[in-house]
Amino acid sequence: MTVRDVRIYPDPVLKRRAAGVATIDGAARSLATDLVDTMRANERCVGLAANQIGELRRCIVVDVTGHAKARSCAGLIVLFDPVVVRSSGSAVAREGCLSIPEFTANVRRAADVTVRGLTPDGSAREIAADAFEARALLHEIDHLDGILFLDRVTSVATDVFPRKRG
Ligand SMILES: [Zn+2]
Repeated sequence: MTVRDVRIYPDPVLKRRAAGVATIDGAARSLATDLVDTMRANERCVGLAANQIGELRRCIVVDVTGHAKARSCAGLIVLFDPVVVRSSGSAVAREGCLSIPEFTANVRRAADVTVRGLTPDGSAREIAADAFEARALLHEIDHLDGILFLDRVTSVATDVFPRKRG
């Protein structure tokens, strides 16, 4: 089990585009394992992208199991080279990010999505998700393109909030 350090904004790796994985080799599988371990080690973390541990390879993990805001729930999702193949609807909801610990923000995203990618065993997986799970998938795929949730905020004046200290 390897819990990696999470890169914090404005670390430049967070603004870079990750490269496609294409072949799922041992290095790719170990990257996915580290992402899952790092997600699990951070309480309330529901997703992580490879950029956030300093790796510019297209891999995301998402798990919204047990989250109050979740409707669809596919359990643990580990995807390489994820792409959004269908999206519809629109919703605004609050988001946070381990890489931006100081703020949360209201972000508009598609409400329903279908995402396709490769699993650690190299097979194709397609996931239809809505609500919180759809949002988590879109947030993580954005990371792979160097896009942070703050980049999607309509108004910094009204839609960004300092995170309350626990
Ligand atoms: Zn994030």
